Amino acid sequence: MTLIEVEGLTKTYGSGDNEQTVLRGIDLEIQEGEFVAILGPSGSGKSTLMNILGCLDGYTSGRYRFGDKDVTGLSETELSLFRNKQIGFIFQQFNLLPRLSAYENVELPLIYQRSSKADRQTRTKQMLTRVGLGDKLDAFPNQLSGGQQQRVAIARALVTNPSLLLADEPTGALDQANGRQIMELFHDLHAEGKTIIMITHDIDIAREATRIVHVRDGKIEKEERVR
Ligand code: ADP
Ligand code: MG
Repeated sequence: MTLIEVEGLTKTYGSGDNEQTVLRGIDLEIQEGEFVAILGPSGSGKSTLMNILGCLDGYTSGRYRFGDKDVTGLSETELSLFRNKQIGFIFQQFNLLPRLSAYENVELPLIYQRSSKADRQTRTKQMLTRVGLGDKLDAFPNQLSGGQQQRVAIARALVTNPSLLLADEPTGALDQANGRQIMELFHDLHAEGKTIIMITHDIDIAREATRIVHVRDGKIEKEERVR
């Protein structure tokens, strides 16, 4: 089944002399269960596209469908509800809250969703164990390595069981060994049926996905099936 369908998507920042068109007509379809890499050089519009796909930002023109929902007509409130339910985010710099423990960071999206305390406890522990950090529940981000912090971030992104995992340069701040662990985790998640969109400028990382979408100057240059 098709999870994402984007047609003629454009994005222009600023106005007048400062006007800059960053996305120039993106057509993209993503099926449920796919692991897609969006590959392109710095400044090509990857993060802009990710923010739009993740409903963090609006677009200038075009059409966006997610599942059976037309995202185009949704209000801010509807968008934020939709986002919290359907999409898990992972960023290059982990974006954990420094004053909260690993456990509290992962629990947070469940608090936003008003889950019961018992449910939060079960799911938070389960997710942290799933990413290999069952013994680090009380650790604060600055007591964890970069790789461990990114695994906490992945647990946080997935604890609400979203339909889509969106990752922007997830291994960009990690050394090779830690980056490898994150990619192995993505492979496991993909094997379990999770839909993943990963943004990267690194061709070797992109080759881990099942499909590579090459972006250049705000356009899709070509698509390539890897496996
Ligand atoms: P990438 O992630 O591929 O490096 P980005 O999507 O971050 O590319 O940026 C693409 C272009 O859009 C860049 O020229 C950048 O300066 C511009 N841009 C990104 N975000 C904004 C913004 N909020 N306001 C104005 N220009 C922006
Ligand atoms: Mg970027």
